Amino acid sequence: MHEKIIEIAVRRGFLYPSFEIYGGLSGFYDYGPLGALLKKNIEDLWRNYFCLQEGFLEISSPTISPEEIFIASGHTGNFTDPIVKCTKCGNFFRADHLLQSYDIEAEGLNSDKIDHLIKERNIKCPDCSGSLGKVKTFNLMFKTYISPGKGKVGYLRPETAQSMFILFTRLYNFYRRKLPFGVAQIGRAYRNEISPRQGLIRLREFTQAEVEIFIDPRNNNHTKFQQYAEEKVRLLPRDRDDTIEITARESVDLGIVAHEFLSYYIVHTKNFLLACGIPEEKLRFRQHLLEEMAHYARDCWDAEIYTRQFGWIEVVGIADRTDYDLRAHEKGSGTELKAFREYVKPEIVREIKIEPLMNKLGPAFKSKAGDIAEKIRNLSPEETGDEIKIELEGDVYTISREYFCIKETKKKITGEKFNPHVIEPSFGIDRIFYSILETSYIERDGKNILRISPALAPMKVSIFPLVKKEPLPEIALDISDRIKRKSIFTYYDENDSIGRRYARSDEVGIPYSITIDFDGVESKTVTLRDRDTTEQVRIKTDKVPAFIKKLVDGDLKFRDIKEAH
Ligand code: AMP
Repeated sequence: MHEKIIEIAVRRGFLYPSFEIYGGLSGFYDYGPLGALLKKNIEDLWRNYFCLQEGFLEISSPTISPEEIFIASGHTGNFTDPIVKCTKCGNFFRADHLLQSYDIEAEGLNSDKIDHLIKERNIKCPDCSGSLGKVKTFNLMFKTYISPGKGKVGYLRPETAQSMFILFTRLYNFYRRKLPFGVAQIGRAYRNEISPRQGLIRLREFTQAEVEIFIDPRNNNHTKFQQYAEEKVRLLPRDRDDTIEITARESVDLGIVAHEFLSYYIVHTKNFLLACGIPEEKLRFRQHLLEEMAHYARDCWDAEIYTRQFGWIEVVGIADRTDYDLRAHEKGSGTELKAFREYVKPEIVREIKIEPLMNKLGPAFKSKAGDIAEKIRNLSPEETGDEIKIELEGDVYTISREYFCIKETKKKITGEKFNPHVIEPSFGIDRIFYSILETSYIERDGKNILRISPALAPMKVSIFPLVKKEPLPEIALDISDRIKRKSIFTYYDENDSIGRRYARSDEVGIPYSITIDFDGVESKTVTLRDRDTTEQVRIKTDKVPAFIKKLVDGDLKFRDIKEAH
């Protein structure tokens, strides 16, 4: 199946293996003309769901960052996979995946334990059966040097998220200092995967679409939760072997999902993936095992899609990351990354302070008076009695009560600062792209069809003059131009039999096609065909652009189009 999908994708301009004429390199793919369009359409649909509908805005940050960022975030230390090298052929393998291929659970094990299991089970190199060396850890980040000369160490970002944490204060101000708010980013991420052999599923350069939602942890309730509360989702909680189907409300009330915010984004993600055309029965949300979850995370759910080639694959991670990220960058940069929480009622706080009396200190201590006063101010009231001892440049001065007084003031405190918590839905666009190709593929009468949803299909409508004889091509090109003026991509084809043209169009997932024949010249009609049912309907030529627009936007169903007479 995988081979078939990739064969169609490569032959028809969706995907090309990168650097092919130089022998290729695993972990990299080029998106061809149709692939780039499909990918853009997935990203635009994602923007619709996660920016437009949610009221979040997108930013775009550099893909190279200085080392400090990743020291603070923990990536330089922890963003590693266990690696093992064959002592005979020299090939590298991801050691935990190697164990998993023998059905040995390796999730969350450290490299020493994995090494022990490999030795104990006498696992050999899958390529040459040679002996495997010691398991080590391998950092997945691509390292680079940012400036000439000695150079500043930098890394290609392994995820888009970090810049959104670093920019917290600027973004908080942009959103007029109100929580919750969300920021989105779609962009390239880079991971030097150890031995990527799974096409688009494991790439070394891939596209992520991430949202960071900053919330006050005292309020995990989502204002729009009600909208999704009764929607059912298929969940695989960490303590169960099978999935359960429950409503979003039940998932929170039963304590399965940590809170409304996470539950809301599980349902929202489900709806986005359904709009991508992923069948509901091939979709589930799996809760991370405790050993799989980052130590700081509170709860984490992966959206998984069932693929015939790879089984269940993670396409989205939805996590409550707590305040880990903001605290880490606060520590790393020395810059506060906090929001302000207003109290319902301001608090009045009593403050007791020691005040030096300068009119007395001045005449008595002359040039030393200023320094003595400063020391007195820094004392806490508990340290004072009737007299205090001040040490200055090696001399000790006894300061009696006549030189200072104790004052009580009242201060109004309106709120407090805190590090917001982060809810992060993180999408892998390339994996969604592959899942769409795989789940949309069917074979009909021995022919390949990609049933890509009209909203995502790279080209929306094929335009076929029945024969290459005027006025048919002229009419066809005119219709094509009028559809394009509605920002809809068309595909014009006048070669070969109409059957072969339909087949070419179906194979790249074009949902509709229009045929212009001689019967329609007089009656000013054309035939509109639906890819999925192969049904055809004759419609007025001047209605075509408006019909196509409505069909693509989902405002009209093909079966509701009436035959023109
Ligand atoms: P993560 O930060 O590892 O949770 O990744 C977030 C999302 O990025 C995952 O759900 C995947 O869809 C995607 N992703 C992660 N690693 C890769 C990769 N090597 N190739 C393609 N997609 C990836």
